[in-house]
Amino acid sequence: MKIIHTFDDVSIEHEGTLIICDIDDTLFRYERNLNYFYKNLKHSFPELTEAELTKHSSDIYATYVKNRKPSPTDYDGFIRMMCKVLETKGKLIFVTSRNECSTEYTKLEFKSIGICYTYFNVYYTNNEISKGQFIQDKLDMDGVEHLIMIDDQTTNLKSVKQHCPNAECYRFVYRTNE
Ligand SMILES: [Mg+2]
Repeated sequence: MKIIHTFDDVSIEHEGTLIICDIDDTLFRYERNLNYFYKNLKHSFPELTEAELTKHSSDIYATYVKNRKPSPTDYDGFIRMMCKVLETKGKLIFVTSRNECSTEYTKLEFKSIGICYTYFNVYYTNNEISKGQFIQDKLDMDGVEHLIMIDDQTTNLKSVKQHCPNAECYRFVYRTNE
């Protein structure tokens, strides 16, 4: 697993490579993440159970993102990577653990960072199964010889590696002041 801070470091060496890219904290990000609300809630309300903390912090986070606009993590790098994808007759799709009911909202987020949503196929796992399982069960991988996975979460990358051992995995770590 390689750690990258820019999409420029994704090396596409084969024609027809399929790139599977994550959305949250990979394509774009919000200033605060879910963990921020989780930690603060836990600090303020130590009596809450784990399940309550998870539920409440998710609710607060959902409200937060509805009232903010995301920022691209690396817009220029993403566009340059897309050029490489096109030059090499590859394809890039998004697989997110978001719920399918957030489709309309996701479209607005793509629009707000200047990326055309309908140009891509975007798949939602609804957080029901791992990304690796999802790729194996729901995507047509026939004829895909070269697979690249980009995600900020190691658990997602590990699950992909488990189901698609040949996948080249990149962990995207956002870095400020590049
Ligand atoms: Mg993510």
